[in-house]
Amino acid sequence: MGKSAVFILGAGALGSSGAEMLVRAGVGKVTIVDRDYVEWTNLHRQQLYTEQDVADRLPKAVCAERRLAAINRDVRISGIVADVTAENIQKLIAGHDVLLDATDNMETRLLANDAACKMGLPFFMGACVGSYGLTFPFGVQTEQPCLHCLLDTLPAQTMTCDTAGIISPAVVTTAARQVAGVLKYLTTGEMEPKLESADVWTGERSSIDVSGLKKRDCPSCSEHASYPFLTTGTSVRPAVLCGRDTVQLIWPGSRRVELPLFVQSVKKVVSNLVHNPYLVACEYHGHRVVLFRDGRMLVHGTKSIPTAKKIASELIG
Ligand SMILES: [Zn+2]
Repeated sequence: MGKSAVFILGAGALGSSGAEMLVRAGVGKVTIVDRDYVEWTNLHRQQLYTEQDVADRLPKAVCAERRLAAINRDVRISGIVADVTAENIQKLIAGHDVLLDATDNMETRLLANDAACKMGLPFFMGACVGSYGLTFPFGVQTEQPCLHCLLDTLPAQTMTCDTAGIISPAVVTTAARQVAGVLKYLTTGEMEPKLESADVWTGERSSIDVSGLKKRDCPSCSEHASYPFLTTGTSVRPAVLCGRDTVQLIWPGSRRVELPLFVQSVKKVVSNLVHNPYLVACEYHGHRVVLFRDGRMLVHGTKSIPTAKKIASELIG
């Protein structure tokens, strides 16, 4: 296990919790990727972060790497600030032994499912909403179904955006089941194709054997797979972030931007400007705007793509 590499997709609630367990367990390498930064509303359930991280407006991947490195110096830890897309996911997950799903949206989860299927990487799905959590592991070189095979089977609440909030006990129990599955796989090579759910508020639990649900014509895991989420590109640009009242803008072919130059050009027209090596955050016409070094911009306080584009054009042309 000490030579194993785990890729964690997302450094939110499940990613924080799962990463800490894996690092304390002593896996060889952990890569954790996230596109967002730490906010006050994250602190009740995202256990790697502190009030100082919020004050410094630091990206989650940066804070996660620091905190995890302080927990166990023997683990190689890499925090990557990036939006995982059809264009970059295969390069990001190459060289890892398992993929731990800790994303907060189905679109990215299905993208990761396609990448895991194509690259033969065992996939440990996890999702949380409210007091409820769902897990499902699968190995693609087996007769087990993939996540795409189960789309008709998954409970509806895992398909929707995170608007209901999440309590931390649901996060911790879901992450614990995921990580137990990862540790079992890394030490014994075994995976159980079970869709397991638990509600920590009502005490309801279920465990469904889904081994018979593999679809012979699945576009993601069958013999003639087309990997639709990888080949069509699901990185809609721009995108309204589910449940966040936020629009994310990514420019085609975006590349690293010079944040100090951006600060110079906008400092007279914005307020509450915060600048660190990873991002610039500011207020502009009642909206909080965050520009990352990789060229992504988040416009908070709107679900309107035209409004977000107008703000972006006023600030960066
Ligand atoms: Zn499938």
